[in-house]
Amino acid sequence: MKKDIVSMNCREIEQELLDLGQPKYRAAQVYGWLAKGVRDFDGMSNLPKDLRELLKMKYRLYAPKVLSKQVSQIDGTIKYLWELYDGNAVETVVMSYRHGNTVCVSCQVGCRQGCAFCASTIGGLVRSLEPSEILDEVLFSQLDSGKPISNIVLMGIGEPLDNFDNVMRFLELVNDPAGMNIGMRHISLSTCGITERFDDLAARDLQLTLSVSLHAPDDETRSRLMPANRGRGVEQLMACCRRYFEKTGRRISFEYAMIDGVNDTEAHARLLAKRALSVGAHVNLIPLNHVEERAFKPSTPGHMKAFIKILESEGVNVTVRRRLGGDVDASCGQLRRKIEQRKDP
Ligand code: SAH
Repeated sequence: MKKDIVSMNCREIEQELLDLGQPKYRAAQVYGWLAKGVRDFDGMSNLPKDLRELLKMKYRLYAPKVLSKQVSQIDGTIKYLWELYDGNAVETVVMSYRHGNTVCVSCQVGCRQGCAFCASTIGGLVRSLEPSEILDEVLFSQLDSGKPISNIVLMGIGEPLDNFDNVMRFLELVNDPAGMNIGMRHISLSTCGITERFDDLAARDLQLTLSVSLHAPDDETRSRLMPANRGRGVEQLMACCRRYFEKTGRRISFEYAMIDGVNDTEAHARLLAKRALSVGAHVNLIPLNHVEERAFKPSTPGHMKAFIKILESEGVNVTVRRRLGGDVDASCGQLRRKIEQRKDP
């Protein structure tokens, strides 16, 4: 089995090349090509031919293929469907804001978390992505779209904390000054609340923003919507959030998709305010996006307004997420695993 060299950091590539009897400076050359998106050793023109042949035998390189690319007529949001080396596919979304371009990346093919309102989990989990595959979502989105990417949100398909090591390596690679050099403060990682991993994440002392998909402030509602809450619970989640905030000094963001008649009552708003204040969290409200297979409906504008008013009167910092890419199903929770593999005639 050939090794995945794009998932390696510069130090590891150096060691690989030393083991092949190569001088150290070759590693920086190889790494430089990989960071540019070159996925073919013959394209590495400053390497001697025999070294290129040797590298071809030892390492696999693959450039993700665009299976589909939809551009929103409303706001220019681009939704890519990429084909991975094994025929699986994942979606990536590029959004343009005044302050720059944000890419929303997937970290797994499918998802095993089972949230009741989300499209990504409908077919279950197929597999986790390698660091190289997540990196290539960012790099190839930038190369294909011509839009320089300045921000990343890990809010596509999959649960980042369920693919912890690969996501951590991806962050290291994408943050590397010799690579894409995207600052941690420009990266958000979103989780459904895999609390066992919060301390591990805090220990990395990254300056990224942790987003917690809360969606309900009480166990009854939250366990109904999110199986990940069962056996963990909101109290435990809050304790872990508090500890994360204390350790890192980084304010957490609560994601809250407003669902008609499910989590949008006054009682929910009051308890949510209490939860947010107890951990110093910012609340990001998302009008629920319709998913065909799901019965849930978005809250009415009137209910949303009343909800926001309560949060604000309690002193909570609250924002409402703008909806982008509505005409290409690129909004939160609408990404889905595409299983059609291209059949050769
Ligand atoms: N697994 C991670 C990453 C997914 S991020 C997580 O759960 O946070 C995608 C975000 O969109 C999450 O906050 C998720 O709960 C939310 N979401 C899923 N389905 C949605 C829908 N139909 N409408 C609005 N938001 C949704």
